[in-house]
Amino acid sequence: MSIKKNLQSIKETLPGHVALVAVSKTKPNKELLEAYQAGQRVFGENKVQEMTQKWEELPKDIEWHMIGHVQRNKVKYMAEYVSLVHGVDSFRLLKEINKQAKKSDRVISCLLQVHIAEEDSKFGLDESELKAIIDSEDFNLMENIRIVGLMGMATFTENKEQVRKEFSHLKSIFDELKEKLPNITTLSMGMSGDYTIAIEEGSNMVRIGSSIFGARNYS
Ligand SMILES: *Cc1c(COP(=O)(O)O)cnc(C)c1O
Repeated sequence: MSIKKNLQSIKETLPGHVALVAVSKTKPNKELLEAYQAGQRVFGENKVQEMTQKWEELPKDIEWHMIGHVQRNKVKYMAEYVSLVHGVDSFRLLKEINKQAKKSDRVISCLLQVHIAEEDSKFGLDESELKAIIDSEDFNLMENIRIVGLMGMATFTENKEQVRKEFSHLKSIFDELKEKLPNITTLSMGMSGDYTIAIEEGSNMVRIGSSIFGARNYS
């Protein structure tokens, strides 16, 4: 299957309110361009350096989403152009994004990443940390970031009921947060293997890589 056909068949299954982030990490520009020519404009990367290089080389109307864990010392390289940071998992990172956004005279949209998986290995805030950020005075003073929603990753398992339970949990945290932050809109959850469940549980942004571009080769 071609990238174009993969994209088309995924888009046919996505409800109109669900945004598609094409996860292009490790893939060469040629393949991103193929997706671009098929109409895709939103790409997700998980390494700042790789994303910045692609941003420099590819058409300027692409929206770049940082979906991975971000080290604070890398924020400055993407502050000028990144359109959404999905993986904000600490207050210190959020403060650094605010600082670098200010230098670029921008307001950067961010999603707070919540830890919903059973595995310890996945990054993210727990509910009390999330609450501590939102309720803090510092948060209200940050003028160069905008929290637009939440992101989460389910456990990597064949157990569909567990995955469903984790997504549904994140949706309930999202709904609760909306009472405090009425302007949040985005719930980023779902990847190639679990995005249909994620959408059934309330996702409106899916991050899909291998089902579009094929398996990744990390060697
Ligand atoms: C790699 C990655 C994806 C895409 O994974 P696929 O299984 O290839 O669709 C989605 N979200 C995050 C955070 C990722 O790191």
